[in-house]
Amino acid sequence: MGGFPIERIRAITFPPPPSIADVAGRADVGLVRMNFNESARAPSPKAMEAASLALLDANRYPDHESRVLAAAIHDKTGVPVDRMSFGNGSGEVLVAAAMVSIEPGDEAVMPAPTFPTCGKGVQIAGGRIVNVPLKPDGSNDIPAMLAAVTERTRLFYLCTPNNPTGGVIAADDLRTAFNKVPDTCMLVVDEAYFEFASVEGGPDVLSLLKERAGPWIVTRSFSKAYCMAGLRVGYALASDNDIAYGLWQLRPNFNLGRPALAAAAAAMRDEAYLQETLRLTIAGRQRLSEALASLGFEAFPSFANFLTVRAPLPASKLGRELEKKKILVQPLPWPDERGSLRITVDSRESTNRLVEALADLIEP
Ligand SMILES: *Cc1c(COP(=O)(O)O)cnc(C)c1O
Repeated sequence: MGGFPIERIRAITFPPPPSIADVAGRADVGLVRMNFNESARAPSPKAMEAASLALLDANRYPDHESRVLAAAIHDKTGVPVDRMSFGNGSGEVLVAAAMVSIEPGDEAVMPAPTFPTCGKGVQIAGGRIVNVPLKPDGSNDIPAMLAAVTERTRLFYLCTPNNPTGGVIAADDLRTAFNKVPDTCMLVVDEAYFEFASVEGGPDVLSLLKERAGPWIVTRSFSKAYCMAGLRVGYALASDNDIAYGLWQLRPNFNLGRPALAAAAAAMRDEAYLQETLRLTIAGRQRLSEALASLGFEAFPSFANFLTVRAPLPASKLGRELEKKKILVQPLPWPDERGSLRITVDSRESTNRLVEALADLIEP
């Protein structure tokens, strides 16, 4: 295969996600899935109704412009529809954000650890990732990231709240980044957990971006607070139409299906359901945090639907033992060798099963 980009593509260092077998097309109910930051709730009933209605026209291609969804996003954010793009999950727009910014040999400054997909896009485009360790609280270290910028830097990726740690970037740090990241550099802010951070008083990224003269892209998702991970909808908001059109050109034709588009628009208009999801998730996180604290785990501050905790035992070992009991969590090699566990806030029953299993493992 000499000479084809496939060599470089195969060498991409981010593995595909682990597969979790469904049973007869349904998510395996015997399994506690606390490793993907999915919601334990079904989508809004209005979203499900809209998706079912959309199935009646499944023989017809969907609206590539996604006008119904674009209007809902406009009403919620105030961003004009010609500054948006859409992806089959926000992962797609994160890859596109890298591809419109990076030429081979360019550099991308990123926090580490963070969500991998923008970095994957950087490698697809032939760029080089410059990793900057997180702050001890699990948020992006803005001064250290700014110090890593060189004249080759074309992309500056922020993730707030950061996955896999949960920390948010403070308003002052965001302001500094938005002013100091050079205008020759694309600033990407991954806000997959925007709705959680926003209801908990996190800084308003979109309004702070008004202070930035240079280009930017914000990405958001329907997979987390809107409980639609299985439907695959994400979107990007860009500083201007030229960037949005660039992202748009990278979309494969009709990349979002009718049911997904209809469900996303209806979910966004169902504010009451969203608020209920946020309230239940935050209460569940509090409960999880208290139960784990009583077992000697220390939680990092989280503004998202997951909790990252320091274990009294090596995290990778705990992860393997839990898996034997059909409980999936995400062990992390951070902040040191002992590691930590990223645990999705799930149902009360899942939380109870996890806490019981951990109690057995820690005090046999
Ligand atoms: C979950 C997640 C995404 C991507 O979600 P999609 O399902 O592709 O929309 C992007 N960024 C972060 C930080 C995430 O946690």
